[in-house]
Amino acid sequence: LVASLEQVEQTYIMVKPDGVQRGLVGEIISRFERKGFKLTGLKLFQCPKELAEEHYKDLKTKSFYPTLIDYITSGPVVCMVWEGVGVVASARKLIGSTNPLQAEPGTIRGDLAVQTGRNVVHGSDSPENGKRETALWFKEGELCEWTPAQAPWLM
Ligand code: ADP
Ligand code: MG
Repeated sequence: LVASLEQVEQTYIMVKPDGVQRGLVGEIISRFERKGFKLTGLKLFQCPKELAEEHYKDLKTKSFYPTLIDYITSGPVVCMVWEGVGVVASARKLIGSTNPLQAEPGTIRGDLAVQTGRNVVHGSDSPENGKRETALWFKEGELCEWTPAQAPWLM
């Protein structure tokens, strides 16, 4: 199967500060890697407050918003962009429900977290937001377009 260019989506995935503090970076990256998606961006990054606020602007009216901004800026995060056909929805499945107690075993949150406010990982919720968040967290020169030498599993 050969994917046409317009079928290829981008998703922004982020290991949140608790994931970095707990030493879960490798575990989380490996789940997307083993699934077979293509990594095109990766960095360890201390998120400034303004960027956290822009990223979560849709949640501005929520009671937990100030706590959320403090959490995301509390320490370094690992920012990633993954590409592939259906990667946005698939990554959300791999991540699991927002509340880790409701997330299925086998998902990242289901296996590795207990609190909604410390749910170790972020994933874009639509292809549009995948593009928006990628542009927000990465400068153009930081992304790497590459063709795997042999990758029939990428379709
Ligand atoms: P998701 O990350 O699954 O897309 P949302 O977009 O609804 O979830 O919320 C963004 C993030 O805000 C969540 O991942 C979580 O870190 C935080 N959050 C959401 N709801 C709550 C809540 N009720 N209490 C504390 N933090 C929350
Ligand atoms: Mg969300």
